[in-house]
Amino acid sequence: MFLAKVTFGSDGGNLPKRDTLEEAVELYLGALIRNGQIYGEYLFSWHDAKLVVYAHLARPDALAARHNSEWARKSLDSVIEGFGHLPTCEIIEDDVPNRFPAWRRSKSFYLFTNAFDDVSPICSGDTDRPIPLYLLPLPELIRESIHSWSRSYSYHDCIWLDSGSLEIPAYKQLADPSSDLSERGRTLCAEIERATKIPTFYFLMRYWGRNKGEAVRLCPGCGGEWHLSDTDVDERPFWDFHFRCERCRLVSHCAVSYEDERHARIGEFKKGR
Ligand SMILES: [Zn+2]
Repeated sequence: MFLAKVTFGSDGGNLPKRDTLEEAVELYLGALIRNGQIYGEYLFSWHDAKLVVYAHLARPDALAARHNSEWARKSLDSVIEGFGHLPTCEIIEDDVPNRFPAWRRSKSFYLFTNAFDDVSPICSGDTDRPIPLYLLPLPELIRESIHSWSRSYSYHDCIWLDSGSLEIPAYKQLADPSSDLSERGRTLCAEIERATKIPTFYFLMRYWGRNKGEAVRLCPGCGGEWHLSDTDVDERPFWDFHFRCERCRLVSHCAVSYEDERHARIGEFKKGR
């Protein structure tokens, strides 16, 4: 992602008008976030009577009109009406690539995010790079649903990491393939695959594992074999998964912790489910 300074324009010396202008800009930025054009939090201030926003863009051309959702188009009209012109955008980065890998070349995608991540949750299975949501031929409502799922996943991850009274319920949502959170994500994976024709997998977190047999545990969706390696000690990049089930469209890793096997059953295959 790329930090950008977006200058919206002057208040024309009309201080009471600032609230209305800010509201129009916030609606526009909200639309950009939900469409995957900008990521995470943004900062804004009035400087020399001009409204300036600092935000992370998914790509240098993410604010181009051709990428806007219907909501972004409408809210941009209100921005232009308020300021009298389009905002201007300046990328504040030294290293801006001229080209980016085409998402259509990916052999697979996987859906993944975490508490500290606010980029697109759709990642290339070949390069691990996030694919900006707005580039994919998805209905706007599906893009918004993916953004919404991503935030929900991040909140659950935060609660789990906090290790409070909701630690285990939150972990179940992250690690069980039939939890509400996982079901939402898996449905979205199917939507992405339908739209792009690229196999799209759902990442299942695995923290607590078993001292014996972890590397050959069965697919929690269908009970079939899904391990790609017989060992849990090999060092491999995150996106080179230990487990992948083509049938269930699930990917996962061996566990991180083997100190408390009581929780290892969470996310394991259960007969008769
Ligand atoms: Zn399976």
